[in-house]
Amino acid sequence: SDSLKKRKIAVLGSRSVGKSSLVVQYTDNHFVEAYYPTIENTFTKGINLKGIEYDCDIIDTAGQDEYSILNHKHAIGVHGYVLVYSVASRASFEMVRIVYDKIINFCGLPAIPCVIVGQKRDLNRYRQVSEKEGQDLAASVGSAWIETSARNNENVAQVFELCLNEIEKARRGGTAP
Ligand code: GDP
Repeated sequence: SDSLKKRKIAVLGSRSVGKSSLVVQYTDNHFVEAYYPTIENTFTKGINLKGIEYDCDIIDTAGQDEYSILNHKHAIGVHGYVLVYSVASRASFEMVRIVYDKIINFCGLPAIPCVIVGQKRDLNRYRQVSEKEGQDLAASVGSAWIETSARNNENVAQVFELCLNEIEKARRGGTAP
């Protein structure tokens, strides 16, 4: 029989958009109110997609800014990306495009399996990025897109299922990294 299918997913985006909260909600089923800046953590979780079980490593990164150089560890051996912004921060939305371009340049590929995530959708009152803007960005790079709230556990599992789906789509199409 086939060995377990291993996939590696990296979670990138500006600091404090809720990357850790998203990963911890997904892997440990709880929300942490306090903010502890992450250095870097890798979580493992089995994800079932269309009846197939995948053994996934999820790398929660410290966060990027326009000056940070893409860490090789966040590209080599990585099958798919979760690029996170906060719907309440336009700067973090703009950072998604910058990080996306850095990955593309590093990998030398025309596209990468990716899901763009608008986090903190519970902060609707403070919204700076519309759903349409998120969808348009995703369409322009050919990625999946979803809005989430780690606080309310809304659409959290879907993020990682969408990412895995993008990974498997690229593998079938022969464009996988
Ligand atoms: P990271 O630096 O991107 O990993 O961000 P964290 O996960 O540490 O979250 C930064 C801050 O945002 C923390 O105070 C979290 O409690 C808060 N936060 C994370 N996710 C959400 C969310 O979905 N809604 C709201 N309102 N706050 C959130």
